[in-house]
Amino acid sequence: MKKNNWKYLLVSIICASIVYLLYVTQGNRAEIIEIDNTIVKSNTIDLLEGKNIVIDPGHGGVDNGTTGLTYGTKEKEVNLTVAQNIKQELEKRTAATVILTRDKDIDLGRNQLEALQKRIQIADDASADLFISIHHDAFTDPSVNGITVHYSSHQNKGENLAKILLASIFKQSIDAKNRGVKDSDFYVLKNNSAPAVLLELGFTSNKEDEIRMVSKDFQSKTAISIVDGIIEFFAK
Ligand SMILES: [Zn+2]
Repeated sequence: MKKNNWKYLLVSIICASIVYLLYVTQGNRAEIIEIDNTIVKSNTIDLLEGKNIVIDPGHGGVDNGTTGLTYGTKEKEVNLTVAQNIKQELEKRTAATVILTRDKDIDLGRNQLEALQKRIQIADDASADLFISIHHDAFTDPSVNGITVHYSSHQNKGENLAKILLASIFKQSIDAKNRGVKDSDFYVLKNNSAPAVLLELGFTSNKEDEIRMVSKDFQSKTAISIVDGIIEFFAK
């Protein structure tokens, strides 16, 4: 073979290799996009479609709720952040319709009873399939700490929902005390048509709990685990 022919052959081999490599990588990319689309579809189109989920950040406006003993954390503000995180996580992973009883720092009534009635009215108007109220506890003894999920025995499915959500929260690596589920006669639980729970995600009167409840890590883990629990509840 002449010297020029060798050059020609070499260039041809290089060109063919480039074309082949392009074909293979493009092909793989197309496959990946296809797989991604399948995942996106199965996650956002079908899951919890038609379900109306009401997330209720406790207090608001003149009603601050509890106030942090060490850092002055306002319960109404943490409640709203947690509720917004859960809404965002639910909308990212499911097709559920998510309604917040308040999305800013406002009063829902002229007094506490009116505000509670308004929360129930919002759930009824939305034909809620699920109602989750977000709160943070306080107690006179600052050593008391931990997470509690309340339900009302006036309801059928409240206890089951409470157990699923609490177990889901503690599947995450969070250094908090598990205070269990509790049968409580809270207004928003016993007057609710939808399965309802009230989460107390720590004590503002306890220093460690107060630090944890405002941390992005804890807030992110609780939002993820509460949504895990909601999905599990509807799957049963
Ligand atoms: Zn509260």
